[in-house]
Amino acid sequence: MKIICIGRNYVDHISELNNEKPTEPVIFLKPETAVLPKKTPFYIPDFSNDVHHEVEILVKICKVGKYINSKFASNYYEEIGLGIDFTARDLQNELKANGLPWEKAKAFDHSAIIGGFLPKKSFSSLENINFELRSNGVVVQTGNSSLMLWKIDEIIAYVSQFFTLKKGDVIFTGTPKGVASVSAGDVLEGFVENNQMFKIQVK
Ligand code: ZN
Repeated sequence: MKIICIGRNYVDHISELNNEKPTEPVIFLKPETAVLPKKTPFYIPDFSNDVHHEVEILVKICKVGKYINSKFASNYYEEIGLGIDFTARDLQNELKANGLPWEKAKAFDHSAIIGGFLPKKSFSSLENINFELRSNGVVVQTGNSSLMLWKIDEIIAYVSQFFTLKKGDVIFTGTPKGVASVSAGDVLEGFVENNQMFKIQVK
C-alpha cells in the first residue's frame, strides 16, 4: 500500500504556516514503512527537535482506479478514518528553504498514524464531518471537512491522474489549524464526531 497526502487543504492552516494558497492540491507520499504499527508508541526521532502533529481525515481506497472522474470517485472508497501526519517541522522548513523534497521531514518511519475507520454510510454528509485531536485530554486541533479546499472526490480525481490508486491505499486529506510540537509523555487521542479513532503515546 501507499499513503498519499494532501498539503495545504485548509485555509486556516495555510495562514498559520505563512504558505501561499495553492491553485492545485499539494501532494506528497509516504511509504508503507511510515505506518506506526498498532499499539506501538511514537518515538520522537533523533533528527528533529520539532515534530508536529497534524490530525487528518483519512480515506481508504477499496478498488483499483486511474483517471477517476470526480462524479464516480465515491465508488472507490467505503471507509473514512482519522490519523496523524507527523511532520519534522524544523527539517521541513530547512528543505523548503532550499527547494528540496520533503520526504525526510514527512515520510520517515512511523510518521503516519492510521487510526480506526468508519463506514462512509454512517455519515449523513461527508462534507460535514467534525474531528479533533486531544493532547493529554486537552483539545488542540479541531476541524470540519466542510472547510477543505478540495473535497474528497476532487482529491481522488486529481491524485488518480498521477498515481494509480489500489485497494488498501490511504489518502491523508490535510490538516486544519492548530499544528504544534509533540513532547515525550504526551498522549494523543483522535476523535471523529464522538468516536475515538486512535490513542497513542509519545516517547
Ligand atoms: Zn499533513
